[in-house]
Amino acid sequence: MHPKKIIIAVDGHSSCGKSTLSKQLAQILKYNYIDTGAMYRAVTLYALRNGLIENKVVYKAGLIAQLTSITITFQFNDQTQKSDTYLNGENIENEIRELTVSNNVSPVATIKEVRDAMVLLQQKMGKNKGIVMDGRDIGTVVFPEAELKLFMTASSTVRAQRRFDELTANGSSVTFDEILKNVEERDYIDSNRAESPLKQAEGALILDNSNTSREDQLKWVLAKVKAVINEN
Ligand code: C5P
Repeated sequence: MHPKKIIIAVDGHSSCGKSTLSKQLAQILKYNYIDTGAMYRAVTLYALRNGLIENKVVYKAGLIAQLTSITITFQFNDQTQKSDTYLNGENIENEIRELTVSNNVSPVATIKEVRDAMVLLQQKMGKNKGIVMDGRDIGTVVFPEAELKLFMTASSTVRAQRRFDELTANGSSVTFDEILKNVEERDYIDSNRAESPLKQAEGALILDNSNTSREDQLKWVLAKVKAVINEN
């Protein structure tokens, strides 16, 4: 008999390894991984390209009116063995990771209409279960009934250092200070917005990985996953 498929909701602060852990879990469990941050980033890229955002100020009415012109999809890339994000048919996976998008995404993600559209899409993507979804509101809003909820965090300097290492390894010329500022600014906006603020979901397990290795973290989570699957 196949074990019952569950929903794993992974929320937490920016750059604390949510996507790394979620991808590992998805690969081991043969589940789908859905990166909801990529969806908000895709909307932000659209807004930037269409003059709907300037200096972190969003032309809200304009963006809301154009939401129906934005189609976001994911496609598995055989070469990288990862899922790429597409905006209206164009692969934008690399572009949405750049600092311009990171600096503008949190204001976009405060808009209720944007969130409603993304949440609807995310609920459709997860309706058959067998998914690992990461973001800020997965355990609180998108799938409050998820069988396993994790809330990840780490100190802001540890997170900024990891993001800095990742971006410089990819050839971006960024400074540690600008990354730290971005991480702290996003934490503040994400945690204090009126719409679906980032907070620990009821029943979520806290995972502070400031001083934990990826391997130990994965082992710990896999034990929790197994316990939940056996219970269900
Ligand atoms: O996860 P990532 O850092 O790529 O997310 C980018 C931004 O998208 C976050 O800082 C947050 O503002 C927004 N976001 C959100 N809700 C989600 C996922 C991401 O508001 N479920």
